Amino acid sequence: MKARKPLVVGNWKMNGDLIANERLFTALRSFIDRELLARVDVAVCPPFPYLGQAAAWMGDAGIAWGAQDVAAHENGAFTGEVSAAMVSDLGCRWAIVGHSERRTLFGEADETVVVKAQRALEHDVGVIVCVGETLEEREQDRAEEVLARQVGALASLAGVAVERFVLAYEPVWAIGTGRTATPEQAQSMHEFIRGRLAAAGFADSARVRLLYGGSVKPANAASLFGMADIDGGLIGGAALVADEFGAICRSA
Ligand code: PEP
Repeated sequence: MKARKPLVVGNWKMNGDLIANERLFTALRSFIDRELLARVDVAVCPPFPYLGQAAAWMGDAGIAWGAQDVAAHENGAFTGEVSAAMVSDLGCRWAIVGHSERRTLFGEADETVVVKAQRALEHDVGVIVCVGETLEEREQDRAEEVLARQVGALASLAGVAVERFVLAYEPVWAIGTGRTATPEQAQSMHEFIRGRLAAAGFADSARVRLLYGGSVKPANAASLFGMADIDGGLIGGAALVADEFGAICRSA
């Protein structure tokens, strides 16, 4: 068993509705029991409008819930934004920040990602900061350079309690594509990331949980999670299928 308690997080992205969610929450409660939760932390991140529903269904099941993003601003005239204070109000234990879809589709720069993380932490919401290279960057042999930049940008968070700070390595070429990094490829990037965290001033880098994300399925989860520096996963597509998500959690 690893010293770091594994964490598996479901990122539902922009999917779901009240009725389908109720079915999914009900099934998750039956697949993820207290015995499993004693060994593995589990969280689900539905879209903002359903966070209250998640609280109602997951609250007494021991499964945490989180937001897929938070605003960089504290409050005020920012139409359409959702603040860290609001997601904290709704009981979110986690907020994902810097997901590659936010970085590429919504133009979020490293500087914005770190401000969003700071906002969340100020409101006692833990952060799952996503990093990862694109296919082009990998092919140009620039994966480590990109990760060093993305992790280095988090230096101002170095003092945060390790319980509240998680990093997810998500190679962009593996997200939603069915292409997964091999366990060895993922391990080598995780090891690199842990080293960069230490270089950025994270004194407790050995205790920071590093998740892998990118087409994790029940069939490949155990081999990925078995690697020394992989402490669980950030799961997209498979998080919408209760028995798959349950099986992935059991593999951690
Ligand atoms: C994600 O969006 O964070 C993700 C890892 O998606 P998928 O599991 O579908 O590749």
